[in-house]
Amino acid sequence: MKQLYRDLVDLPGIAGHEKYIRAYMKKHMEPFAEKIYQDKLGSIFASLNENSNGPTVMIAGHMDEVGAMVTEITEKGYLKMIPIGSINPPIVLSQQMQVIIDDGSFVPGVVGAKPPHLLRDEITKQAASFDDFLLDIGADSRQHAHDLGVRVGQQIVFKNLYQITKDGKKIFSKAWDDRFGSGMALDILESVDKSSLPCRLIAGANVQEEVGLRGARTSSALIKPDFFIAVDCSPCADTFEESQTGGSLGKGFMIRFYDPRCILHLGVKKFIEETAKKHQIPFQYYKSLGGTDAAEVQLQADGILVCTIGMPARYIHSTTSMIHQEDAIAVKNIILAMLAELTHEKIQEIKNNG
Ligand SMILES: [Zn+2]
Repeated sequence: MKQLYRDLVDLPGIAGHEKYIRAYMKKHMEPFAEKIYQDKLGSIFASLNENSNGPTVMIAGHMDEVGAMVTEITEKGYLKMIPIGSINPPIVLSQQMQVIIDDGSFVPGVVGAKPPHLLRDEITKQAASFDDFLLDIGADSRQHAHDLGVRVGQQIVFKNLYQITKDGKKIFSKAWDDRFGSGMALDILESVDKSSLPCRLIAGANVQEEVGLRGARTSSALIKPDFFIAVDCSPCADTFEESQTGGSLGKGFMIRFYDPRCILHLGVKKFIEETAKKHQIPFQYYKSLGGTDAAEVQLQADGILVCTIGMPARYIHSTTSMIHQEDAIAVKNIILAMLAELTHEKIQEIKNNG
């Protein structure tokens, strides 16, 4: 995979604190973009074929990752925190995390776990809630933490334990959800054959997806797309259970036909299936229990055609998620193939099939 994906997962950015990701996105958009759009919450997009007579097609990842925020510095110098995005508390205990201070550097810390010697019958109790955790940055007092640059309201992210598996095919990282989609937007801008593009392409990434799809609402109001594609990591259940529609690593991109907030339009479903089959791009059907930015965008104005092209990912919303590089190729290929077909006539045909 391109270096840009690695660069993006290394950066810190919880919801509302995406500025380092946005700066990276912008720098990479500038050589390709005809115009750069940024809304007031901070979502950022680049356009190609700005003056096209074709429809506006918008592709979006989201820049934010799950993490935490400093809510209090105790007198002894430990940090209390609140989760930003959905995190299962037990995975946080004993993890190394980093506080991003105002100059952009980080202060390392560990979520202190009681040694077994100090535990009696409270083994599971210590990890029940974020209220149980103290981030230990090695400060000896509140003043010492202050002197190190720590303030309430700063973001805390997991340390990025980036690794490629021994077979060379899969990659671990903290933030595939959704630096993958953010990177894919840049990758598409770099790779698409502009001369044969029948539409106006707007590609980039939203802010604040993990706290309720907030950036997607404002960015889509700005762009007003005719067709919207969310590119997001979807959690695979394949480690734990056999399921036909629960997501499997290495089986291609996901057609998300159902989630609680967005039911895939039948015309869009047919379009994706036919395009994938025509180009022999592997795919799997996916039923989700969560939502993506597509759910928010579909409700703009009098309704917008949307879909989520899902990237299979194991163990998201934890310290280490895993993706398969061949799935990334499938995601890229289906998006490029869809873009090549999205004319006004095609969109009318899709609507008629719904
Ligand atoms: Zn996501």
